[in-house]
Amino acid sequence: MPGSASEPYDLAVIGAGCAGLAGAVAASELGLSVVLLDASGQIGGQFYRHPAPTLGAVRPQALHHDWAAFDHLRRRLEASDITPLLGHHVWSVARESGKLWAVHAVTGADGEGERTVRVRARAILLTTGAYERQLPFPGWTVPGVVGAGGAQAMLKSGLVLPGNRIVVAGSGPLLLAVASSLAAAGARVPAVVEASGYLGYARHPRALAANPRKLAEAVVHGSALLRHRVRLRTRSAVTEVHGTDRVEAVTVSRIDPRWRPVPGTGQRIACDALAVGHGLVPQIDLATSLGCATRRTPDETCALVLDDLQETSVPGIWAAGETGGIGGAQLAVMEGELAGIAVTARLLGKPFLTGSGRARELRRRRIRMRAFADAMAVAHTPRPGWTEWLTDDTYVCRCEEVTAGRVREAVADFGARDARTVKLLTRAGMGWCQGRLCGAAVACLAACGGDGTVPPSAERRPLAVPVPLGALASLDEPDD
Ligand SMILES: Cc1cc2nc3c(=O)[nH]c(=O)nc-3n(C[C@H](O)[C@H](O)[C@H](O)COP(=O)(O)OP(=O)(O)OC[C@H]3O[C@@H](n4cnc5c(N)ncnc54)[C@H](O)[C@@H]3O)c2cc1C
Repeated sequence: MPGSASEPYDLAVIGAGCAGLAGAVAASELGLSVVLLDASGQIGGQFYRHPAPTLGAVRPQALHHDWAAFDHLRRRLEASDITPLLGHHVWSVARESGKLWAVHAVTGADGEGERTVRVRARAILLTTGAYERQLPFPGWTVPGVVGAGGAQAMLKSGLVLPGNRIVVAGSGPLLLAVASSLAAAGARVPAVVEASGYLGYARHPRALAANPRKLAEAVVHGSALLRHRVRLRTRSAVTEVHGTDRVEAVTVSRIDPRWRPVPGTGQRIACDALAVGHGLVPQIDLATSLGCATRRTPDETCALVLDDLQETSVPGIWAAGETGGIGGAQLAVMEGELAGIAVTARLLGKPFLTGSGRARELRRRRIRMRAFADAMAVAHTPRPGWTEWLTDDTYVCRCEEVTAGRVREAVADFGARDARTVKLLTRAGMGWCQGRLCGAAVACLAACGGDGTVPPSAERRPLAVPVPLGALASLDEPDD
């Protein structure tokens, strides 16, 4: 049986979102034995997140555009021999004896009693997606403040809204998608507050012209906002949230090109929820713990360095989708398929597969879409002046309750110049989220003596997700 010591899988795909599904089905249809692991109980990842069957949603597709593409992938998955391991949180990938990889996961965390699972494979495809970048501001810990993508996730998977009157704020194209979904689901959205503008896209006319589908998407969202009378405020930011037990209002201020609030421009907008996010950060912990090389993206995050066939700098480890840089669902599907083809070509010794018309076409489209993604990233990169939104008592690390004042003290009085030193001095980043939420902010505050942009960090974490000690203790020795 594939997965046992004597017969490992050819390919283990970690992440069953757009990229993982496309990679798994492509490799399986070309003849590989494939195991597909995901922490979630359902396939689809962030983009195709959908309600659990127990919620009885009759038309889950109503909350999505491009549902047909997901349906197609799902049908191919169902028709394949792929082993789906859902509800499996992968905490480590390690090289085993010979040319095998061992994937370690915990499962049963939802109440059935946790246990560890180890699967072996000859190749790995990492498609672990991204998470939201959060920049703190006064009041961001008040109940009713949620991530912009988080609000979308609540709606898509739980069919609930975070409030009735929701301001959507931050930066990046996700804000438009989130605002139009929330409004379509019945929320009143008084404003979308975008810290950058959209004129930055005009500096990349070739990337725009080569990606008409992206422009069409923007028009769809734009007209949805018009229809629902949502006001779009660019070059502005939520600089304060009002309320103690619950959001009651937000202050929106004009900001200058460095994102510093312009004095005297604050305006109060009544609302009972705020959905806020400043773009996405590639989720690459498993890759960095394996030593895969990373690059700095145009919007100051860390993404994996990939060759033109999606292989990382570590031979035998491929990656696709957001792990290689934020680029959206369609790009993730294409890269996943390309990776599936490339792994098959390598393992079955069929190099002609990567020279096929399909592989060439995917590579061409990937270059075109990555150019658009880069233009998008440049347009929405956080500027250093956002730190001026912070008062000394604003929490930066909410897990460990470390304020901006304490981080500034670590920098000014104790000479900290990077997030790691700040962490050692203040505990910022030592809590449950392990710096995923506050890492970018702490790093920026620590680097304020430099150019002040958010320095990307590719921390190497030996465990990608929290693992109970009992699960670690129950690990047996690797087979020879
Ligand atoms: C919160 C959020 C909301 C978003 N909402 C939208 C939207 O409304 N519209 C839009 O156009 N784009 C949205 N995006 C972006 C969009 O989701 C991505 O462009 C697209 O999903 C990329 O596909 P992917 O396969 O790379 O990653 P994903 O679809 O994110 O899939 C990654 C998968 O990997 C799994 N995973 C991660 N780590 C592990 C691990 N250690 N063990 C096991 N499984 C793991 C995750 O559970 C997930 O299923 C959102 C992104 C986020 C983070």
